[in-house]
Amino acid sequence: MEKVIIIRYAEIHLKGKNRGYFERVFSVNLEKSLKGIRHELRRMSGRYLVAAFAEEDAEEIERRIARVFGVHSYSRGYLTESDMESIVAAATRVCPQTGTFKVDTHRGDKKYPLTSMQLNAEVGAKLLEAYPALKVDVHTPEGCVYLDIRDGGKTLVFGSFEAGANGMPVGTSGKGLLLISGGIDSPVAGYMMAKRGMNVSYLHFHSYPYTNEQAKDKVVTLARILSRYTGEGSLMTVSVTHIQEEIHKKCAAELNVTLLRRFMFRIAERIAKKTGAQCLITGESLGQVASQTIEGMTSSNAVVTLPVLRPLVGFDKEEIIVRAKQIGTFETSVLPYEDCCTVFLPEFPAIKPKLSFIEAEEGKLDVASLVEEAVGTLERIAF
Ligand code: ATP
Ligand code: MG
Repeated sequence: MEKVIIIRYAEIHLKGKNRGYFERVFSVNLEKSLKGIRHELRRMSGRYLVAAFAEEDAEEIERRIARVFGVHSYSRGYLTESDMESIVAAATRVCPQTGTFKVDTHRGDKKYPLTSMQLNAEVGAKLLEAYPALKVDVHTPEGCVYLDIRDGGKTLVFGSFEAGANGMPVGTSGKGLLLISGGIDSPVAGYMMAKRGMNVSYLHFHSYPYTNEQAKDKVVTLARILSRYTGEGSLMTVSVTHIQEEIHKKCAAELNVTLLRRFMFRIAERIAKKTGAQCLITGESLGQVASQTIEGMTSSNAVVTLPVLRPLVGFDKEEIIVRAKQIGTFETSVLPYEDCCTVFLPEFPAIKPKLSFIEAEEGKLDVASLVEEAVGTLERIAF
C-alpha cells in the first residue's frame, strides 16, 4: 500500500481534442506548485497522484494543490493492489473508528469480480469487525470510505473529498496585463482571470515621491500573494508623477481621475504589446465610484485597441471582499496607503464626463511624449 494524494481535475474534460495540451499544462503547473517538496507526480486514468512524499509534507502539499486552477478535488489516501486483503488494510486506515459510516465503491474496472454492492458489503463488514464502536448508516453517514477500483489491478482508497480551486490551468487562456493598485479589487480581478486559465502579469503605477516606498511594498506583497495562483513572479512599475502634475496644472480638476485613467490605459497597452499580453485587466466594478460609470469606462476604452477585461464589473463590494478574504489578499489590501489616484483627488470628480470635454482638456497636454516618458520609467521587481 502506498500513501498518495489523489487529484481530480475540473473542466479539462470539456476540451475535446485539446485535452492532451490542457493536461500537459496542468501537470506542469502542479509540478511548479510543488517545487521544493520531495514527491513524485504520476498520471493515472483521468487523475493525478502525488506519491513518494514525507508524511510531514502532506499538509503543505494539500495547501498548494488547493490553489492550482484546474483542480476539482483532492483526497489523501492509499494506492493498493485490488485484492480484498489489501483493500481492507487500506480501508482500515482511512476509516473513522467510531460513529456512523458507509463504504462507497466506484468500479472503474468493470471486469472486477465483485460488484460495487458486494464490495461495499464485504469491506464494510470487515471494518465493523475491526472497529466495534462503528455503525453503518448508508443515508447520512458521519464518515465514508471510498473505494475506486482502477484498471490494472490497482485501487484507490480514501476517506474524504476536499474541494479544489476549480477553473482552468493557468496558461491555457492567453496572457493579460493586470493593472494592480494597492486596493481590494484589482488583486481579485487578477485572480479571476487566472482562474479562467489566463497568464497574468502585473503593472502598478506610482507617483513617487507623492506616494511612498511602503505603498509600493504593499503592491509587491499583493502581487506575491497572487503569484501563488498565477505563477507570475515579478511586478512591473511605472511612474505617473509627471503626468499627474501636468494634469493638475493644466486641466479641469473634475477630470483628474478620468484623464489619469486614460494615460494609464495608454501606457498599459504599450507595455502589454511589448510583453506579449493580449488584453488589459482592471478591478473596476460598475458604479462603485465616480470614475467607474459606463461613461468613464467608455472614455478609457477609447484610447486603446486591446480588449479591457473587467471581471468584477457586475460584483458588489461585499462579494469582492468575500473573495479577497478567500484568496488571502484582503488583510494586505486594507492596510493604509496612498494610491496615485488619491493624490490630487478632486473634490467632485466628473461622474459622466463627455468625450468632447475630455478630449478638449487632454488637448492641453503633450500626450504622446508624456506616455513615452512614463514608459521609460518601467521597472521590474522580481520576488
Ligand atoms: P482597487 O481596489 O483595485 O484599487 P478601486 O475600487 O480603488 O479599485 P479605482 O481606484 O478607481 O478603484 O481603480 C480602478 C482600477 O484601476 C483598479 O481596479 C485598477 O485595475 C486600476 N488602478 C487604479 N489605480 C492603479 C494604480 N496605481 N496602478 C495600477 N492600476 C491602478
Ligand atoms: Mg484603488
